[in-house]
Amino acid sequence: MSKVLIVEDEPKLAGLVADYLKAASFEAHCIGNGLDAVPWVKANQPDLIILDLMLPGRDGLEICKEVRSFSDLPIIMVTARVEEVDRLIGLETGADDYMCKPFSVRELVARVKALLRRPRVAAVPAGLEIDEGKHQAVLDGKALDLTPVEFRLLAALAAAPGRVFPRDRLLEKLYADHRVVTDRTVDAHVKNLRRKIEEIRPGADLVRSIYGVGYKLEL
Ligand code: CA
Repeated sequence: MSKVLIVEDEPKLAGLVADYLKAASFEAHCIGNGLDAVPWVKANQPDLIILDLMLPGRDGLEICKEVRSFSDLPIIMVTARVEEVDRLIGLETGADDYMCKPFSVRELVARVKALLRRPRVAAVPAGLEIDEGKHQAVLDGKALDLTPVEFRLLAALAAAPGRVFPRDRLLEKLYADHRVVTDRTVDAHVKNLRRKIEEIRPGADLVRSIYGVGYKLEL
């Protein structure tokens, strides 16, 4: 089920949008204060954000820019002023779509669906092939000699290139038995994975560290 975050300080409107989304089989979460948006996105990894422009705490423009610094998830900006739309587009905020208030909630849900159907950018970085069945990864035609944990780490990151995975999310994917490990364990595996990637492609920076959040696979 796709998870949609609604950042909107008008509770009635936020509730209405959430109801429509839920009726369309989405999971919907509402946030009314701009300051709470980015931390929630980092912690919960929504699939799409509906972001109001004027918000208490922090405006939608700043939130959009910061989210874009670590994620390419679809963002629909919402504004009460038609004139704002041109300005927003001119600012190249990185938003994927815009809607003006008052808007048809049906139309908004249709746009949410359209954005989530849109294919994400290229499947994996050029030169990298991952065979989940054989548990093999090949870079530039050469097999990467990975441990099972390193393979799962790479496969998890490659499932959504460009998306930032928090360490705790990665841990869930690395150890099916939920053994007690720390965030540092992920760092250690990433270090080994990077070394093996660099043995094949010197200077490669495929596995990027995003400070305070986690890791992502570069395209
Ligand atoms: Ca508002």
